[in-house]
Amino acid sequence: MSVKTRVYEGKAKILYTTDDPQILLAEFKDDATAFNAQKRGSIEKKGIINCSISSKLFQQLETHGIRTHYIDTPAPDQMRVKALKILPLEVVVRNIAAGSLCQQTGLALGTVLKKPLVEFYYKNDQLGDPLLTSDRLFLLELATPEQVDTIAHLALQINKSLCEFFGRCDITLVDFKLEFGLDAQQQLLLADEISPDTSRLWDNSKETDPNLRVLDKDRFRRDLGNVENAYQEVLQRVLKAIESSK
Ligand code: 5GP
Repeated sequence: MSVKTRVYEGKAKILYTTDDPQILLAEFKDDATAFNAQKRGSIEKKGIINCSISSKLFQQLETHGIRTHYIDTPAPDQMRVKALKILPLEVVVRNIAAGSLCQQTGLALGTVLKKPLVEFYYKNDQLGDPLLTSDRLFLLELATPEQVDTIAHLALQINKSLCEFFGRCDITLVDFKLEFGLDAQQQLLLADEISPDTSRLWDNSKETDPNLRVLDKDRFRRDLGNVENAYQEVLQRVLKAIESSK
């Protein structure tokens, strides 16, 4: 029986070693933070819900040829993942203007973008995850030009696949954040999680009330209430969409 060692604790997950040095165990936490951890709280059952949603989405993406770090889910709040060297980049894809895009450009909330926008942020809590220019990204040697091209291409492929999938859930994928890592062969794999914590998801069945539409972490950020219900709703719709496609 091996002793699992904690290798990293983030805001939403704890990573442990396993018997196999190529494999890590990610434990999803109920802890919730926002605004660079200035707002802290907890969302009941979030660990289990986000682990389930992420697992299903990673499996969906794999069937569309996107390589991810996902291996399996040995427990409801645990995911076994391939050990990767994570690039210090947050890759955000946007279909509709919301959040920092509205704050920084003046675009009205809900503006449908003519084409998806792919943005790179420096994953650095101390600096508040600043938006990067490509010159700054290369200055800091955060990735090579080839890696940036591959990531941008993958991000758009992932967006296309997820938009189609969430459409079947009657949900609009407004925007989301991705992280990528390199395996031992220097191949880029999708890492981290895709969940209501890392995306904006709007309910298409409640188009009349913008606040009711929100099924993601903005409910926590903006104190809209019913956070757990919203996360559960996303999970139920994801499971139903997968079931009905069998
Ligand atoms: P924004 O730049 O508008 O704050 O975020 C854009 C999208 O990326 C949102 O779906 C947001 O949830 C996600 N995102 C951006 N940065 C982070 C982050 O540091 N942590 C998490 N969980 N999500 C992020």
